[in-house]
Amino acid sequence: MDATVALAGNPNSGKTTLFNELTGARQHVGNYPGVTVEKKQGTYTNNGNRFSIVDLPGTYSLTAYSLEEVVARDFLVNEKPGIVVNIVDASNLERNLYLTLQFMEMGIPVCIALNMMDVAETRGIEINTEKLSGLLGIPVIPTIARSGKGKKELMKTVATNIKNRTPAPLAISYGNDIDKALNELEEKIKAHNFLTNIYQARWTALKYLEKDEQVIKLGHETDSSISKEIEQVVQKVSGHLNETLDTYPEAMIADQRYGYINSVLKQGVIKHCQDRNRLQTSDKIDKVVTNRFLGPIIMVAVLIGLYQFTFTYSEMPVGWFESFFGWLGGVADAHLSEGLLKSLIVSGIIDGVGGVLGFVPLIMFMFFGISILEDSGYLARVAFMLDRIFRMFGLHGSSVMAFIVSGGIAGGCAVPGVMATRTLRSPRERLATLLTVPFMNCGAKLPVFALLVAAFFAENEAMIMVIITMTAWLGALLVAKLLRTTIIRGESTPFVMELPPYRFPTFKGLFIHTWERTWQYIKKAGTVILGISIVLWAMMTFPGLPESQTSLFEQKRTALSASAPSSITEEVESAGKDTVLSPKANELKEQFSIIDLQEAESALEYSVAGRLGTALEGLTKLAGFDWRTNIALVGGFAAKEVVVSTLGTAYSLGAVDPEETGSLSETLASAPGWSPLVAMSLIIFTIFYAPCFVTVVCIVREAGSWKWGAFSMIFNTVLAFSLSVAFYQAGSLLGY
Ligand code: GDP
Ligand code: MG
Repeated sequence: MDATVALAGNPNSGKTTLFNELTGARQHVGNYPGVTVEKKQGTYTNNGNRFSIVDLPGTYSLTAYSLEEVVARDFLVNEKPGIVVNIVDASNLERNLYLTLQFMEMGIPVCIALNMMDVAETRGIEINTEKLSGLLGIPVIPTIARSGKGKKELMKTVATNIKNRTPAPLAISYGNDIDKALNELEEKIKAHNFLTNIYQARWTALKYLEKDEQVIKLGHETDSSISKEIEQVVQKVSGHLNETLDTYPEAMIADQRYGYINSVLKQGVIKHCQDRNRLQTSDKIDKVVTNRFLGPIIMVAVLIGLYQFTFTYSEMPVGWFESFFGWLGGVADAHLSEGLLKSLIVSGIIDGVGGVLGFVPLIMFMFFGISILEDSGYLARVAFMLDRIFRMFGLHGSSVMAFIVSGGIAGGCAVPGVMATRTLRSPRERLATLLTVPFMNCGAKLPVFALLVAAFFAENEAMIMVIITMTAWLGALLVAKLLRTTIIRGESTPFVMELPPYRFPTFKGLFIHTWERTWQYIKKAGTVILGISIVLWAMMTFPGLPESQTSLFEQKRTALSASAPSSITEEVESAGKDTVLSPKANELKEQFSIIDLQEAESALEYSVAGRLGTALEGLTKLAGFDWRTNIALVGGFAAKEVVVSTLGTAYSLGAVDPEETGSLSETLASAPGWSPLVAMSLIIFTIFYAPCFVTVVCIVREAGSWKWGAFSMIFNTVLAFSLSVAFYQAGSLLGY
């Protein structure tokens, strides 16, 4: 087996960039066992040396305050990598070394990749790497991950140091009181072999002092009486520190660590030359961009720009995709013989999957735009500005990202949205966010709205779309507030997100980020949507009409043929797809197709889906939905895209030529039982009802329990139905 090298460091220190530089194409992405934090693994080969490289989640510390920290630490403890390459941002040395110290305290072999040397240089920071290495007692290699500079030297150092296992842990002095307690605890822990198979004794003691929940829990399970004794000692020191210095062990420990770093840096490691150019530039930009009045205006402009960019530039490629699937359907239609297989391939597979894949260019452009905002550092500012508003609803500034990705303005997807909540540190805020992001108007709901708005509100399209967007946001925030004051009650975490300096994104980084996200979307279409399309097709096809009924339609056809002069009947029967018919023949052809469509409708009503829709009609009438709408909505449980195509199938009765575009909205506008009121009720229902199947699966995975998936399906549907019924009934009373 190859020796393992773990890349660790603060978020944004350049880990992923270095990882990509080292591993090139030889990498794969998965999740850490049991949790949903991304795990990237790859191979580096040079001079006959092979290393397995793992990109650990970005962390500021190794105390179990967040999921990332737990994951990073568990990996170090369980997998015991040969060496940790600690990526340190040279332009932010003091803060980054805080993590370095903790590796050293844990007794883990570590070397420093002193990254962003170019940034440090432009900011006039000069670093004496030999001195730093000497003072810390670990190798330090300057790198510029972005250009790959220093990676050879770095890996050479790794190769020579990897055999050098388990260095003596660094012992920092934490002041008299804590040091005394530490020594006492260390002896106790060693004497009882308490957790010593996992952690060094002093380190365990330190974690107890830092109130590390994970270690304390583990200690309790291992030996609760020793654990209690340790906690008593901790309590005594805490009380003492509180009384004498008005502080706590955790704060004291952090202060001392920074003190240690300071003393290292002050010994001639850092020389500030003249300016602090870059920080000043970032500060100057921030003065404008996060200004109390200008900030929100710029933010709205940027977001509108993002969508303008997405929709304008993706229009053409989306068209190409559409034509391609249209062509594919045509080819299949022409070359397959009539029957179930053809119906399955054309209606079930090509229409279903094609409808979703058609969105790929749009999704790609949007993710590209979002990657620019993210990589440049602007998105952190957006989160920062919106934090105050979100806090009022029990959410967090970082929730903004998830809402935007899910379709906060228009067109997105709740699946990456739910995954975007991983950046939230507090589990409660994270849960509240991931349960409410499905209310946003994702790319799959848009066609539903577009259809209904075009049919019933053609004069005020833009206005109605704005109202729909606002309704979704208001609903999401209010539900979040409701959840945070009831079933997921608890304190808010302080806003810890830092504002990194602005950076010019690199093309490579943008490309990787865009592609990773797009690929996830494509995989969804190729797997889940494909399955759903087939199931829905089957539900709408089986059981087929019984012989007694099909023969009835056959009789009608025969009667129709007989009623017309035989020359005209022949003309219709022998005509190809594109043949121009005489007016009489055309009329006959239309009458034939009306019979076909009547038969199709009877068959639909007779199918499993039709029966389900009819059974629900009694209830859904309260909101104005008939059985055909019900079929579409049931289909929408699987994927929202399906609502439009199912309505299309179910309502094809009025459209003589089903390929005529725009006919569906015209059909709906003139169909009995439909009105603007029904349309609005359906829009409301579509905004709020159960997330699509894939999103539910994602919620289950991210929330760690199937219960939350069930909750979101039931709660959202009940909420949506109540709102629709209230709206429809009120509207009816007012005479609309
Ligand atoms: P991670 O999230 O900690 O893994 O950091 P990333 O790899 O995503 O890098 C964060 C940003 O810093 C990206 O925009 C990189 O292009 C940029 N970056 C990484 N290394 C360097 C470097 O050495 N110099 C400069 N100027 N930028 C870098
Ligand atoms: Mg990264």
